[in-house]
Amino acid sequence: MTNPTVENLVIIGSGPAGYTAAIYAGRANLKPVVFEGFQAGGLPGGQLMTTTEVENFPGFPQGITGPELMDNMKAQAERWGAELYTEDVISVDLSQRPFTIRSQDREVKTHSLIIATGATAKRLGLPSEHEFWSRGISACAICDGATPLFRGAELAVIGAGDSAAEEAIYLTKYGSQVHLLVRSDKMRASKAMQDRVLSNPKIKVHWHTEAVDVVGKGNMTGVQVRNNKTGEENTINAKGLFYAVGHTPNTGLFQGQLELDEVGYIITKHGGVETSLDGVFAAGDVQDHEFRQAITAAGTGCMAAMLAERWLSSKN
Ligand code: FAD
Repeated sequence: MTNPTVENLVIIGSGPAGYTAAIYAGRANLKPVVFEGFQAGGLPGGQLMTTTEVENFPGFPQGITGPELMDNMKAQAERWGAELYTEDVISVDLSQRPFTIRSQDREVKTHSLIIATGATAKRLGLPSEHEFWSRGISACAICDGATPLFRGAELAVIGAGDSAAEEAIYLTKYGSQVHLLVRSDKMRASKAMQDRVLSNPKIKVHWHTEAVDVVGKGNMTGVQVRNNKTGEENTINAKGLFYAVGHTPNTGLFQGQLELDEVGYIITKHGGVETSLDGVFAAGDVQDHEFRQAITAAGTGCMAAMLAERWLSSKN
């Protein structure tokens, strides 16, 4: 089905960045069209749909659940006239103006575009990963660390960067011991983070160590590891395994059409939200590999909508 009119603004994504952009653009009377996507568990709302309490989003002193926060943002976007389609965008053509955005069900032409497609935590592809995902394996210590299953248990973290260090330190609040599995003989984390890890009596760093698989019945009971220097294998009796091996930005649609960095994050100018193409803006985790927080995603969503409005006005 083709809509012959040209929209002012299309927003792709329904996390904090996408909905915030929709609220601001709606209030600016741009009547934004939002392709919400439904990748997180088949629902719109982005990554926070997969978590319970969000304790650090301002305005909620007692915390709020992720789904409740996202439902509120969605309702606020609708209140200001955003048109929402719970559809994944399957292709975009940014080579001609107006731009063309396609989902399975429709094709929309638009003068401007905000990309807020987020990023996805990387997985390792261990043989039993699928079986034990959410039954011991997790990609987010802050979300899952406090679950009863992990309290007082030995836990493991895979990774060598700042995120891995942060997750390991965070998990010492809950686990009896945290095993940090590092593939080489050094960490990539900042010196300060390394010092905190190495001086924490509850963290044991296993150098030259790779996870081979996880074991258990129902829930995970151990991580099989191999020392990649000696070839020696053994099992760590951990009930939780947390991946901290990076994220993949959801930018496959834009490859060859926008400037991306070597990992695939959209490159924005001056630390802002303008991309390499006039009229195309990027907000949230899709362009932010440093902060990756709901509030920063919402902040850049606001910036993108305000700049899109300015850009559209300058063309009239
Ligand atoms: P996302 O939330 O990732 O949303 C991206 C959106 O784009 C999704 O709706 C997706 O469906 C859509 N999309 C992707 N591709 C397409 C496509 N082709 N077509 C249409 N739509 C598409 N941050 C905090 O500040 N506090 C917390 O407590 C916190 N807890 C977290 C717990 C978990 C389990 C996780 C995973 C993250 C947590 N975060 C937290 C981080 C926070 O969720 C992210 O920083 C934030 O959601 C990023 O927002 P975003 O809008 O950039 O992207």
